[in-house]
Amino acid sequence: MNIVIFGPPGAGKGTQSNLIVKKFNLYQLSTGELLRKEIKDGSELGKKISSIINDGNLVSDEIVGNLIEKYITNNFYKSRLIFDGYPRNLNQAKHLDDLLKKNDQIIHIVLKLSVSLRTIKKRILERKDLEKRTDDNEETAIKRYETYENNIKPVIDFYKKSNLLKVVDGEASISEISSEISRLIESNKG
Ligand code: AMP
Repeated sequence: MNIVIFGPPGAGKGTQSNLIVKKFNLYQLSTGELLRKEIKDGSELGKKISSIINDGNLVSDEIVGNLIEKYITNNFYKSRLIFDGYPRNLNQAKHLDDLLKKNDQIIHIVLKLSVSLRTIKKRILERKDLEKRTDDNEETAIKRYETYENNIKPVIDFYKKSNLLKVVDGEASISEISSEISRLIESNKG
C-alpha cells in the first residue's frame, strides 16, 4: 500500500506517519527530512536549498522529484511508502502519478490533515524547542502556511477526481487522529 499524507506545516504529518509506519509496516518518505539531512551534511545540494527552506518557500520540483524517484524505483520500498510532504503542488502530484505508473504502483489512499492557522502557530512554537528546526519560528511558519495554501488547491482537486482523498480533522488529539487514520486505511484494505 502507498499512502500520501499532506497538510499545512505543523499539522502532524510526521507524527502520524510515524505511527502508521509501525502499525502497517510501511516506510516513511519525508521530503522535508531528506532535505534537512542534505543541509545538515553540508552537501552541495544542502547549500543550495538552505535559504529556500528557511524562507518558507518550496524547493524546486526537480530536486524533490529526484529524491523521491530513488525510493520509488527501489524494489525494497515497493508499495510500502508513505509520502509525507510530497506532493506539494499539482506538478509534483502528476509527477508522482507518472513515476508510480512506470514502476507498476499506485496510490491507495490520500490523507489530508486539516488544521487552522491558529493551531499551527501554537504547535510550531511548541515544536521549536523540541526539534530545533531553523524554519520553526512564527514568521516562517506563517510564510510556510501561505506557501501551502497557495499551492495545494489543485492537488486536492486532483485527488478528489480520482476518489482517493480522505479529509482528517487535524485539530483532534494525536491518538484520535491516529485511530481515524488507521480506520481509513483498514477500510481501504477492504
Ligand atoms: P516539511 O518537513 O514537510 O515541513 O518541509 C520543510 C520544508 O522543506 C518545506 O517548507 C519546503 O521548503 C521543503 N519541502 C519539503 N517537501 C517539499 C516538496 N515536496 N516540494 C518542495 N519543497 C519541499
